[in-house]
Amino acid sequence: MHTPLVKRLSRVIAPLFVFSGLAALVACAGRLPIATFHTLIEDMAERTTAAFPAYVDCREAFGEPARVTGTGVTDTGVSADPQWVADNLVTVRLPWKAHAAWDAKLPIRTLQVHRLAAPSLERALDRIWTEAGQSQTEIRRLGLDAVGGGYNFRPIRTSEGASGRLSTHAYGCAVDFDPARNALGDAEPNLALPENRYVIDAFRAEGWVWGGHWPQPDGMHFQAARLPAEDSRKDTASGR
Ligand SMILES: [Zn+2]
Repeated sequence: MHTPLVKRLSRVIAPLFVFSGLAALVACAGRLPIATFHTLIEDMAERTTAAFPAYVDCREAFGEPARVTGTGVTDTGVSADPQWVADNLVTVRLPWKAHAAWDAKLPIRTLQVHRLAAPSLERALDRIWTEAGQSQTEIRRLGLDAVGGGYNFRPIRTSEGASGRLSTHAYGCAVDFDPARNALGDAEPNLALPENRYVIDAFRAEGWVWGGHWPQPDGMHFQAARLPAEDSRKDTASGR
C-alpha cells in the first residue's frame, strides 16, 4: 500500500536529515573562530533574559527622563526632567572603595540608577564582592574601583559621535567601569580576560547585559536592558 511505504521511507529518511543537519552544524562550528562562537552563545543567552525591557522599550519601562526645554540648552533641545529624577533615581552603595575614573582623587561611594534596576545591581555587586574574596586588591586588579558612572542624561555615543537617541545611562539603567582598559571600540577589553569573567557573569545572572561583544564593543558598559533581537547588529540598537 501507498501510505505504509511513505511511512517506512520517512522512517529511514528523517534520521538522515537530522544526522546531516547535525553534521553541518558541527562542520560550521568548526569553521567559526572561537570568539565568534562565544559571541553567538552569549547573544542567545542575553536574548532569553526577559527580566528587563529591550532598549527600544526603555521609555515604557523606566519612564520619560527627558523634557523638552525648547531653549536650545542641548543640541536636541531637551534636558533631564528633574521630576523624573526625583521620582525614579536611587543610589546603590558600592561594596568596595572606588573613585571616579576621570579623577583618582574623587571618591565614589554610590551609583545613581533607576529604582527598578537598583535591586539587581546591588545583588550583582554583592556577588562580585564575595567572589573577589572581599579583597580591595582584587577589585583594583579587575578595575572596578574606577567608576565611569551610572545615571547620566546623554545621547548614545558612537564612534561617529553622539546620536540623537537617549543612552540607557539617561534612563538610569546602565553603569560603566574602568573605561581606560575597556574603551568604546576596544575589541579586547580587560573585563573579557578569563580571570575577570566572573564580573560579567554576576551581571548576567541578574539579567544585565555587557557591551563588550557588541558590533562596536563597549567593554566598560553594563545595562539592565536587553538587546532587541531584530536589530542588535545596528550600532545604536543597544542604547549604550
Ligand atoms: Zn555605558
